[in-house]
Amino acid sequence: RFEGLAGLANLPAETLDGTQVGLWGNIEFPGEVAACLERGAVGVGLYRTEFLYLNSERAPTEQEQFEAYAAVVESLKGRPVTIRTLDLGADKLVAYQSAGYADANPVLGLRSLRLSLRELALFRTQLRAILRASALGDVRVMFPLVSTLGELRQARAILGDVAAELTAEGVPFRRDLPVGVMIEVPAAAVMADQMAKEVDFFSIGTNDLIQYTLAVDRTNETVADLYSAADPAVLRLIAMVVDAARARGIEVSICGTMGGEPLYTMLLLGLGVHQLSMPPHQLPEIKRVIRGVSVAEARSIAAEALHLETSQAVVALLDSALRHAL
Ligand code: PEP
Ligand code: MG
Repeated sequence: RFEGLAGLANLPAETLDGTQVGLWGNIEFPGEVAACLERGAVGVGLYRTEFLYLNSERAPTEQEQFEAYAAVVESLKGRPVTIRTLDLGADKLVAYQSAGYADANPVLGLRSLRLSLRELALFRTQLRAILRASALGDVRVMFPLVSTLGELRQARAILGDVAAELTAEGVPFRRDLPVGVMIEVPAAAVMADQMAKEVDFFSIGTNDLIQYTLAVDRTNETVADLYSAADPAVLRLIAMVVDAARARGIEVSICGTMGGEPLYTMLLLGLGVHQLSMPPHQLPEIKRVIRGVSVAEARSIAAEALHLETSQAVVALLDSALRHAL
């Protein structure tokens, strides 16, 4: 049960009772793929594309985006990448976009997929670039901050329209491109059973899910004590989403910070999450925890956690379970 962190890269992410867990990397730049592969990631579970926009005075062109996505796909050498469409707004603002939109409450305003659905030229350009890159490898696409089924359908319709346009132009792309949604708004978690019928996978964005569930700004330190992945309300929502995904046989992963925190690894395994995406530097530590625990014990910890009343009680339980395991 005791293994050094170096040297873990080539060992399987497998529990003591033989369950394989998919460990993925989160990236913002193509150059970060190497850090994922060095640590044995199966692929990139979250490619945050807004960084292409944040570092520029103007929106990147279709070709610039295509080149960035193609670089990621090529350096993954056949391994999968989940490209997230634009998540601009709120904490990720760009000058050319903020002009004209003055939200009193940016976190509740025109951000992320909502902005993409409003700025169709921007959205379509990105979808064209993603589809073109999908001809080069195992590309998947996901939409962030989906609140309603209506938004998901709108986004899918635009994707379909862009695909038809590329077909008419004779441009190749992956016909069976998997399409997923991030579950990071409580409304989407509550509606996960319906959402699951219309997508190929879920990826739970716990950073925003915690923020919106507890009505606490994720960047506001004065209310940071309320912001907890261990909050029982958050756990119940995650359990609902995982159950909804399993009932439809679609994949569910965690790509928020919680997925890369050792404290929560057993809990997530026990809830039935077998795919975790995280910043590459977290991969060895999480793999070490997975190799030291069994799904059977993780299930009993998760069941116990779901009956607790406060985040403090959940943290105490998980902390003692982790110490006991390692
Ligand atoms: C999240 O909200 O958990 C997430 C992964 O997205 P971001 O942190 O980029 O909002
Ligand atoms: Mg988010």
